[in-house]
Amino acid sequence: MRLTFLKRVLTLPQYTPGYMIRLETGLTHISRTILDRSLRWWLKTTEMEESRTPKLCMRELLKLDQENPDTSTACSRVSWVQSVKNLMTTAAPVNIHDLTSETRYCDVKAGVIASGLNSQEADLDRCNQSSFSLLYSRLKTNTKMEEYLNFPISFHKKRLFAQLRLHPEQLSILHVYVDRCKYVFHPSSRCSVCNEPDNDDLFHHVCICKIYHPFRNQEKLTNISRRSFHKYFKYYDLNFIHYIFKFMKVSLCVRSFCLNE
Ligand SMILES: [Zn+2]
Repeated sequence: MRLTFLKRVLTLPQYTPGYMIRLETGLTHISRTILDRSLRWWLKTTEMEESRTPKLCMRELLKLDQENPDTSTACSRVSWVQSVKNLMTTAAPVNIHDLTSETRYCDVKAGVIASGLNSQEADLDRCNQSSFSLLYSRLKTNTKMEEYLNFPISFHKKRLFAQLRLHPEQLSILHVYVDRCKYVFHPSSRCSVCNEPDNDDLFHHVCICKIYHPFRNQEKLTNISRRSFHKYFKYYDLNFIHYIFKFMKVSLCVRSFCLNE
């Protein structure tokens, strides 16, 4: 749900991989968050007095789990204990029935972190092997939330910048949204605006297409090649985001006019 929401807010395609959204926004995988909170609650119940209702309920759940270890039964499938146990088994070598009031949360958490299950580092590894966007795998080298999301600028600019950074360069059709208008690119075809023998992709649009030369800041385009295009979006600052937004707005209007869209 939260990934769907973020994709919609940032006007990114719904097929954008989850690991890219998590890396861009600094989110952790939802299963890690669930496991973290479940463990805290579980350990909290072990410290409760014997007469407390949560403790009695937890004891009954553990008893049921021990009596029905078969995970394929209907009872096990809806068991909260079984769900957490499954996550724990994958994440850390800890038997959930061994958790006592002496068990320290930080020790269990350390085991989960060491397992690397759905961690941000796992997302970064996935990104490095990505076939969805070579550009993104080159520009994203850490798991921190991107700074531009906290810049004091309008959300329209953040949206466009996110689209430029995360766009699926390998697909044959690409959509870019600016101010509720949709612009279509065909990266596997030739640019029909300038008719030069180059692909109709964002690199050509931002750096090469001669039709938009008057709107470009030539100082920002020194030594930019298709191979180094990612540096544009990796080493950014506030001024660059203002510049790219202004450039894209004007150049996309000219593009629409030229293509009679
Ligand atoms: Zn062109």
